Amino acid sequence: MNRPNAPPTIPLADPAADQAPLVEALAAAADRVIRSGCYILGPEVTAFEHELAAACGVPHAVGVSSGTDALLAMLAAAGVGPGDEVVTSPFSFFATAGAIVRAGSRPVFADVDPATLNLDPAAAIAKLGTRTKAVLVVHIFGRLAPLGALRAACAGRGIALLEDAAQAIGATGADGLRVGTGTRAAALSFFPTKNLGALGDGGAVLTEDAAFAAAIRRLRIHGAERKNHHVDVGGNFRLDALQAALLRVKLPHLPAWTAARRGAAARYRAGLRDTNLVLPPEDPGCVWNQFVVRVSGERRDRLAADLARAGITTEVYYPTPLHLQPALRALGHAPGDLPAAERACAEVLALPLHPSLTDTAIDRVVDCVRQSLAAR
Ligand SMILES: *Cc1c(COP(=O)(O)O)cnc(C)c1O
Repeated sequence: MNRPNAPPTIPLADPAADQAPLVEALAAAADRVIRSGCYILGPEVTAFEHELAAACGVPHAVGVSSGTDALLAMLAAAGVGPGDEVVTSPFSFFATAGAIVRAGSRPVFADVDPATLNLDPAAAIAKLGTRTKAVLVVHIFGRLAPLGALRAACAGRGIALLEDAAQAIGATGADGLRVGTGTRAAALSFFPTKNLGALGDGGAVLTEDAAFAAAIRRLRIHGAERKNHHVDVGGNFRLDALQAALLRVKLPHLPAWTAARRGAAARYRAGLRDTNLVLPPEDPGCVWNQFVVRVSGERRDRLAADLARAGITTEVYYPTPLHLQPALRALGHAPGDLPAAERACAEVLALPLHPSLTDTAIDRVVDCVRQSLAAR
């Protein structure tokens, strides 16, 4: 599609470029699995789970089939079921709310902090009630949501505090706590554009609680405690040996990739500081799955169109808040119910950010953004 002298396009994410130096190691790992005859769970998955737990500083990691299934199994292991309510954020990927509904329970949305776009703890605490079984926070775009006040509010009432950490592997909070610590459990996704991406689908549940980890291990094999003896109705949430072997090749590179993401975010910040864009707040513990700027509605769409013409890919994460999704209309929400989340949906724009993004490419994005803003 490129015209002969057009500058190369800049994709939003580029997993093939990020892992290009690892192609031979990935092929060797795949070859090992192909020859092993063991394709689901097994030694590759067990080894990956140990390496992932160590890398995340959490005692237990359980590999599952996707981030969505990690959420579903985590909710089930926390005892969430029919009649229960789960307080969560309306500003997330649909899986967050979808998993709550699939667990048989009801999502109760509390509004987000307009600066960080993470669940506002005070708003969430105001929604806790007698039916609340869990709070599912989402660490949106790789930034940890503040958990201190929620941890205290949940502890006394027997409410499970759970993390949707699909975008936040390796992130740390202001209190120094890491994903999967100080809560009941955290769900990770290995979708290819997440910070640690498989070459297909995959996910994991992190927890400090051995019994909770054992429950996830059961749920991923249809609740079987031993062969042909099913103590829960779980599902097929198993991780492939092939994905585990490939993830084992990539995992040691995660710290360097995270550092590269932080460097790219800092360069964007320096380049865009004196524009009228609203930049995401600084946060040394953020792992920058996305770098999302804000610009009011009409101007956002013009900026996206100008960048597209220059070969720069952007994305609106997310254009519709969860409480206004058609699939959740039975909850009875109307526009205006959660104004901070709704306003964010009208203003957000994710710029390209991935570990192999060069400084030259970042500077080109910055120049194009500045030109677009100046032209109005
Ligand atoms: C990606 C993502 C999920 C789902 O993960 P999959 O691996 O795609 O199933 C859930 N929640 C959030 C916030 C995500 O970004």
